[in-house]
Amino acid sequence: MVPEEPWCQDLSEASLPLSREAACQWIRCSDEDLPRLLSAARAAKERFKPAVVTYSRKVFLPLTNLCRDYCGYCTFRRDPGDAGAHTMTPDEVLEVARQGERLGCTEALFSLGDKPELLFPEMRETLRHLGYKSTLQYLESMCELVLRETTLLPHPNPGLLSAEWIERLARVSPSMGLMLESLNAGLLRPGAAHDKAPDKEPAKRLRTVEDAGRLGVPFTTGLLIGIGESVEDRVDTLLAIRDLHARYGHIQEVIVQNFRVKPTIPMRDCPEPTLGEMQRTVAVARLLMPKVNIQAPPNLSAPYYDDLLDAGINDWGGISPLTPDFINPEKPWPHVEQLGARSAAKGHRLEQRLPVYPEFLEAASARGGLLQERLSKAADAEGYARRAA
Ligand code: SF4
Repeated sequence: MVPEEPWCQDLSEASLPLSREAACQWIRCSDEDLPRLLSAARAAKERFKPAVVTYSRKVFLPLTNLCRDYCGYCTFRRDPGDAGAHTMTPDEVLEVARQGERLGCTEALFSLGDKPELLFPEMRETLRHLGYKSTLQYLESMCELVLRETTLLPHPNPGLLSAEWIERLARVSPSMGLMLESLNAGLLRPGAAHDKAPDKEPAKRLRTVEDAGRLGVPFTTGLLIGIGESVEDRVDTLLAIRDLHARYGHIQEVIVQNFRVKPTIPMRDCPEPTLGEMQRTVAVARLLMPKVNIQAPPNLSAPYYDDLLDAGINDWGGISPLTPDFINPEKPWPHVEQLGARSAAKGHRLEQRLPVYPEFLEAASARGGLLQERLSKAADAEGYARRAA
């Protein structure tokens, strides 16, 4: 039982957002107290976005899987010469984007390793051959290509970004993202998840999220749970996101992602977070940020993913009818019809959103040009994805 201390007596609307102390207590609550936490989180979600849960219909474009970092949980990254190492050509990007367009997708999610050319001469040579000096320059050009040649809207996820690069990418994509993952700098110590991953230093990632805020760019971020952090670290990571959003108002979505074991990773013997841990983290995220979009990927909690709706999520993230989840290829995305049926069974209507959320459309459109033109065609009156006639 959660003891009847002042921090836990009230989870009503008036008591929100939660304090750090209350969040640290509730994230550890017993199974007996969990229904009370979930019920408060679900009620907060219903006040924020009643009876709806969203997803983004996307294609996944792994522009390059070369990466200069070596995260202990990653199966995506490759070194040059490894089986499966690949940098997509512009033709490949366009081919996948056009296939996605035919299947009703509206998002081109660019996921890629962080600045591989700094470590690998082979990547510098690939970029030189393509006519670019850096991976970010190539990414910018591919976002522009997709925006110009298709109806898809790019959402890049390229790792750490300087203010200058955020500004440049914001001209060719309505939103972008960087997972904060964890504020625990101890994860960089030898043998920990971010040993050999210099770009996962929390201060550097906070700076990117803050720079996006200063520039008014709609931004997706979130935490990764189960990589060696404590539950207090989870709360502190959520609080850091909340603080940045309070200052700049630019966090369009907070992802709560759970670590999953894979047989080939350095962390293959580490325990996975349980569904109960996911529910507690999602519910506390909702109660810390009652008016922020909270997402959890369904494929990483299958087959029980609909239980995450009980914890207060209002979004399933990107779902592709075409491309696999290249980050977790062994965990297929559910079919959209199945996602809709299971969401409906929990009282939610499933809506297709754009990569940029409805409430951030105006900020993205303010950049003008082709981006504004594409957004006005892609969005319906409520800011969701316009349905094909
Ligand atoms: S998680 Fe991202 S930054 Fe880390 S190794 Fe994989 S691709 Fe690189």
